[in-house]
Amino acid sequence: AARKDRLLEVSGVSVSFDGFKAINNLSFSIGKAELRAVIGPNGAGKTTFMDIVTGKTRPDEGRVIWGDRSISLLRMNEAKIAQAGVGRKFQRPTVFEDQSVFDNLLMALRNARSAWSVLFYRPTDEDRARVVTLAEEIGLDSQLARKSGELSHGQKQWLEIGMLLAQEPQLLLVDEPAAGMTPAEREHTTDILKEAAKTRAVVVVEHDMEFVRRLECKVTVLHEGSVLAEGSLDHVTKNEQVIEVYLGR
Ligand code: ADP
Repeated sequence: AARKDRLLEVSGVSVSFDGFKAINNLSFSIGKAELRAVIGPNGAGKTTFMDIVTGKTRPDEGRVIWGDRSISLLRMNEAKIAQAGVGRKFQRPTVFEDQSVFDNLLMALRNARSAWSVLFYRPTDEDRARVVTLAEEIGLDSQLARKSGELSHGQKQWLEIGMLLAQEPQLLLVDEPAAGMTPAEREHTTDILKEAAKTRAVVVVEHDMEFVRRLECKVTVLHEGSVLAEGSLDHVTKNEQVIEVYLGR
């Protein structure tokens, strides 16, 4: 991507844990409205990669550059990076089970505001309308009054994606969204992620190849903390080294 279309650029990043290189000279970049799947065997460094981007783990070397003004994320702590527009969805949904879908989304919208305005927060008509739009984006507009605890596993995951979208991240990192979902739920999840990536960058870490295929996006294969291959799923799955790593041939 041209410089102005690029949102995040990781270059030459390495990190060791007790002398073991979990990330080894990793380079990765993503555009402003791009969907990307990151795959790789267990221990490839996928989680550590996300930890670096979100500021949870500090690399030993390399650069992590953000946005038009080429700001270094390495100068910011986790909270500042989140404020700059990096959202992360963990595997386990963390919605407030005793609250309605509407209230969960409204809370997320409120929390995205400054601390001062959170204190005196009264939802406006605009906020309520925004909640309805978010619910439509995640396909839960018919469930707004439902208690979140009553939702299916898939619906809770979508709600959490909606809560992240409420905070208007420029980059959304999603960890194994399809885990534990029914085939129909998986399909809806690909729709949500594809739609979300029209206006922001979305990185999906996923094991399920069928799910990755449906995302119809560029794929980055990690192995031993570096990029082993990058391109369409068809392209990377033809790569000899990728076949070797996955099938142990
Ligand atoms: P993945 O998410 O692809 O399975 P990880 O990023 O979790 O891979 O891990 C990459 C490697 O780094 C693994 O070998 C893992 O054991 C190691 N690792 C990750 N975090 C730590 C840590 N905090 N301390 C020690 N080793 C770690």
